[in-house]
Amino acid sequence: MIAPLLVWLRQDLRLADQAALAAAAAQGPVIVVYVLDDDTPRHRRMGAASRWWLHHSLASLDAQLRARGSRLVLRRGRVDTVLAALARETGASRVHALAHAEPWWRNAERAVGRALDLVLHPGQYLVPPGSLRTGSGQPYRIYTPFWRNLLGHMPPPAPTPPPPRIDPPAHWPASDALADWGLLPTTPDWAAGMRAAWQPGSDGAAARLAAFVGHARRYGETRNLPSVSGTSRLSPHLHFGEISVAQVWHATMDAGGSTEVFLGELGWRDYAANVLWQFPDYAGTNAKTAYDRLAWRDDRADLVAWQRGRTGYPIVDAGMRELWATGWMHNRVRMIAASFLVKHLLIDWRQGERWFWDTLVDADHAANAVNWQWTAGTGVDAQMFVRIMAPLVQSPKFDAADYIRRWVPELAHLPDALIHDPPLRPAGYPAPIIGHVEARTRALAAYHALQSG
Ligand SMILES: Cc1cc2nc3c(=O)[nH]c(=O)nc-3n(C[C@H](O)[C@H](O)[C@H](O)COP(=O)(O)OP(=O)(O)OC[C@H]3O[C@@H](n4cnc5c(N)ncnc54)[C@H](O)[C@@H]3O)c2cc1C
Repeated sequence: MIAPLLVWLRQDLRLADQAALAAAAAQGPVIVVYVLDDDTPRHRRMGAASRWWLHHSLASLDAQLRARGSRLVLRRGRVDTVLAALARETGASRVHALAHAEPWWRNAERAVGRALDLVLHPGQYLVPPGSLRTGSGQPYRIYTPFWRNLLGHMPPPAPTPPPPRIDPPAHWPASDALADWGLLPTTPDWAAGMRAAWQPGSDGAAARLAAFVGHARRYGETRNLPSVSGTSRLSPHLHFGEISVAQVWHATMDAGGSTEVFLGELGWRDYAANVLWQFPDYAGTNAKTAYDRLAWRDDRADLVAWQRGRTGYPIVDAGMRELWATGWMHNRVRMIAASFLVKHLLIDWRQGERWFWDTLVDADHAANAVNWQWTAGTGVDAQMFVRIMAPLVQSPKFDAADYIRRWVPELAHLPDALIHDPPLRPAGYPAPIIGHVEARTRALAAYHALQSG
């Protein structure tokens, strides 16, 4: 009997351009395994929206494998223990996987590597995190020089098709039933908006990419307009690896126009992983430690108003409601809403990071932490804390009227001129939680106290 090879999938739930699967399939019979690990200490548990996505993505992957005479084996528990047990059961000793950047996955890779012959492949990013170096040999901390260097290594290697054959093992090991994992919400079922907005899995990713390619050349002009579908909406598909970043790059790189702006956003994804690789605790600690002393407000009522989309700032509320309903928020609005929490409400960015982690279908440890620290001004490469975004200026500037109409129906009847800051609040819609000038003064005072303290 030929010993099977294990392919350990995590945020790389695809068959095409999957170096781990390709390598294993070329060597012998393959067992593709996904392990849900809620047990390893310090392993960040996936948020609720991500778990919804994961359920559907795993179902889709299993169907694709079955169409090729294979299947997906599901196991639950501490990933190193589970993989070692599966290897004993099946006679496998080698595991192929794509290298991941999250600190808990890097720990798991070390633990699995101690028990089994683990072969790690690149493919999660355009380049392996930490691999690009400055002239003095240091990994990059600032985006722009990182991007310039990255561009010099592009395009990435051409994506590869799914392996032509995936030989099954002589005996299939037992698998958990996906339904028993309880990844989907039950009472209440809050996922209706997500089902309407998304098709998790590689087919959904391919359809999104195909729909976006024709728009890529106008990305630079439309990407900041939340009322327009100007961005790719590939983020959850990229996070779960249902499509590789190399596939996205190759499909769009010759689109012309302002496509390079879009490619630069793929560069931000790599940059975020590169920062996390250097600072594994980036989601939990200020990169600029001076901010450890900032007097954040611990105001539960204000935090809940922000989470529920009831701040009285229509653009912020529209974004937070879009997030709650669909698990996604337009990037421009993410910046406005995040800045509002940190500067206007003076609430610690980590509270926002955790809320996004739980509610985003694209919740990504690296991208989320890097963007929150960037917005808060606490990051290695951050805007200045004292640059305080004015939501009431941003909203008309980026033509958000239709976006507000869609997500804040209480205001839908208002004309463009009034909707960004209605002088008379319709019944049921709150007054601003704090005035812009007052909020700005409070934030600057907290900042100056930090400087003098
Ligand atoms: C406070 C805050 C938190 C965020 N949290 C996340 C997160 O958890 N997960 C996440 O994927 N993105 C996050 N972003 C970045 C960005 O908002 C989303 O990637 C983007 O809105 C996804 O939509 P899209 O796929 O249409 O992006 P597009 O504009 O089409 O960009 C293409 C891809 O590039 C990547 N990308 C784009 N912008 C960024 C960025 N600023 N940083 C890193 N990668 C980027 C994404 O993979 C995205 O799918 C966050 C931004 C902010 C301001």
